[in-house]
Amino acid sequence: MTGPSGSGKSTILRDVMAQDLRLALSVSHTTRPARPGERDGVEYHFVGDATFDRMVAEGAFAEWAGVHAKRYGTSRAEIERLLGAGHDIVFDIDVQGAAQLRAAYPSAVAIFILPPTMASLEERLRGRATESEEQVQIRLQNARAEIARADTYDYLIVNDSVDEAVADFLAVIHAERRRGTRVRSITRRLLEEGEEA
Ligand code: 5GP
Repeated sequence: MTGPSGSGKSTILRDVMAQDLRLALSVSHTTRPARPGERDGVEYHFVGDATFDRMVAEGAFAEWAGVHAKRYGTSRAEIERLLGAGHDIVFDIDVQGAAQLRAAYPSAVAIFILPPTMASLEERLRGRATESEEQVQIRLQNARAEIARADTYDYLIVNDSVDEAVADFLAVIHAERRRGTRVRSITRRLLEEGEEA
């Protein structure tokens, strides 16, 4: 999923994750400093440029991108860990990362969270005391560039009301889990049962 800063994406994600325990959020690596209250290994793995460079060189990332003048990436190890535990993985990533993941995993589902208006997005960004004016401007510009690419996503969810956006998100997940290409094993099992009888 992608949503510009200020789209209310984090709130939606928190509620979605709490309501569907089969989902797990992928913890990315980033070179940006931790915000107050963020814990290493929980919101992100916070690493320096040297570590990030080394991981890129080693091919440790399934995707990575420069966002807001910092770098963010999803490690292959994180994907393997969560798939191994039987989870459906949610990636909170920007448009560049989503394009890379969709190329690598064609069955991935791309969901974009849109703000109801640009004014509401700016208001939310300014309401965050943690961002400098320069950061707000970078994030606004970035939001416009991301929204311009939202049409390439499978699903667009407008965050008019958090509860409705959460319900929409869960509806997408539920429908996607029932896609014929994902659940062929069901028909196979039924037909095998018929043969045994
Ligand atoms: P923030 O600094 O506000 O936590 O995140 C900034 C942006 O980076 C968000 O739009 C988020 O989706 C994106 N992002 C976070 N982790 C990753 C990642 O692993 N890969 C990519 N491509 N983008 C990420």
